[in-house]
Amino acid sequence: MRKKSKVTDIILFVLIIVVATLVGISAYFHFNVKKRIYEDSYFINELGLIRGGIQRYAKFKVANINKENIITEIESRLKDIKFYLNKHKKCAPKFYSNALKLIKLIQNNIYKLENAKNKKTIIAISEQLWIQTNILVGNALNYHKEKFYKILKTFNLIIYLSIIFLIFIIYFVYIKIKKGIEIESITDKLTGLFNRMYFDVIFNYFIEKYKRNKTPFSMLIIDIDNFKKINDTYGHQKGDEILENIGEIIKTTIRKTDFAFRYGGEEFVIIFPDTNIETAYKVAQRLLNNISSQIKLDSKPVTISGGIGEYKGENPRDFFEKIDEALYFAKRNGKNQILKV
Ligand code: GH3
Ligand code: MG
Ligand code: MG
Repeated sequence: MRKKSKVTDIILFVLIIVVATLVGISAYFHFNVKKRIYEDSYFINELGLIRGGIQRYAKFKVANINKENIITEIESRLKDIKFYLNKHKKCAPKFYSNALKLIKLIQNNIYKLENAKNKKTIIAISEQLWIQTNILVGNALNYHKEKFYKILKTFNLIIYLSIIFLIFIIYFVYIKIKKGIEIESITDKLTGLFNRMYFDVIFNYFIEKYKRNKTPFSMLIIDIDNFKKINDTYGHQKGDEILENIGEIIKTTIRKTDFAFRYGGEEFVIIFPDTNIETAYKVAQRLLNNISSQIKLDSKPVTISGGIGEYKGENPRDFFEKIDEALYFAKRNGKNQILKV
């Protein structure tokens, strides 16, 4: 039982870590992406205003109207853009160094535009500026798109991995719970041995196996001696404790391939597969000694009586009753003994 709750604790712990990490990653992406979208939109919008501003300035200049304030505005915007580019230089060095080069060219052309006198030159320079500013806006848009595809890809990857991880955990929990339920349905809660319902399944299995291949097996039925008196003298709680202890001793005395069941209140059945009566009897005798030497009440040993037999192809019910009868004779004969059928 203790082991099961430990597994549940570990699963719960891992689940909390996964959920916390997901929430953290999602929060990071949420705020970071929001900030980047805002900054990039500002950057692209400013570039658009510069592009438009230059064209407006050229238009007025062709009409001989002095609009120096437009140039001042463009220059202040270019300054902002440069500051922004320098700030983000490390993120995409190629894009930013190209952009800075273009801005230098644009600034030169603006200077030329300011000083141009005839209309043709003004139009020619403004057209050049249109192309240069257009490239700058286009590059900025492409970079923005690329950057977000990258972020989206990473985000999707994290989501997919988390989903796979969660499915894995859910599957693991499902298997654990299923296995737990299965084990619980065939286990006696008090002793941890198999229960009576499972005895019917296993007993039939070995009967069928004998029918097919004549595979031998032996069976032992034991009953605690004077258990009612033990309960009456030391209390039901103590009785339960003794049942638990006997369960433990049975588990450690028999082989891993043997099957032990709590058949009733203080009755146990053990099936020894591939075992003849002589070998099974030796194990039964060892079990009797282990119990009486390890469980004592007021220095008096707790004892068991039992019947044991090897299956020879008879009617299964008769086989069971013969062993039960041997147990009855063991009781009649003074208890604390195991009799063969
Ligand atoms: P005998 O030596 O002839 O077997 O005598 P006994 O007293 O052991 O036999 P009896 O069948 O008269 O009593 C069995 C007792 O086992 C009666 C019942 O109260 C007790 N018992 C059955 N199941 C449990 C259990 O789960 N816990 C406890 N503490 N006692 C149980
Ligand atoms: Mg009994
Ligand atoms: Mg008894």
